Amino acid sequence: MIGQQSCRCCGEGKLKPRMLASLRLLEKRTGVPFLINSGCRCDEWNKKSGGHKRSHHKIVNGFGNAVDGWMLLLTIRDLYYAALEIPNFSHGQIGLYFTETGWFIHLADCGYKHRFAYNYCATLGKMVEIDFDDALRMLESQELSYV
Ligand SMILES: [Zn+2]
Ligand SMILES: [Zn+2]
Repeated sequence: MIGQQSCRCCGEGKLKPRMLASLRLLEKRTGVPFLINSGCRCDEWNKKSGGHKRSHHKIVNGFGNAVDGWMLLLTIRDLYYAALEIPNFSHGQIGLYFTETGWFIHLADCGYKHRFAYNYCATLGKMVEIDFDDALRMLESQELSYV
């Protein structure tokens, strides 16, 4: 893993052991490191970074349960399908973000299956939630140079 698990503003928190094990398994299967862009978040940082109120990034009893990031050499499509092979992620949260400048994935070992996707809307100038199946179609599309 590259990057920090703990909160970027205060250094608090670390990933729950089972979440960490799932991430390590993903790295073992793909052979490349996961680059954490956002790991654990204290309440304040979660608010500042626009996280959901009940985000799994939030630190509970010292642990967070979600990461945002990407993996070296993998396309978002490859990473999505690799994550599906990890039981705690396929039965957990997988979020796809297509930002103005690139993509990243959200993974959480939260114990229930949840999929979501956000895409940058140039007209509104912000990220908007899109249908997950549409996002999957975007993954298969040749039009997006960064997938
Ligand atoms: Zn913090
Ligand atoms: Zn996230």
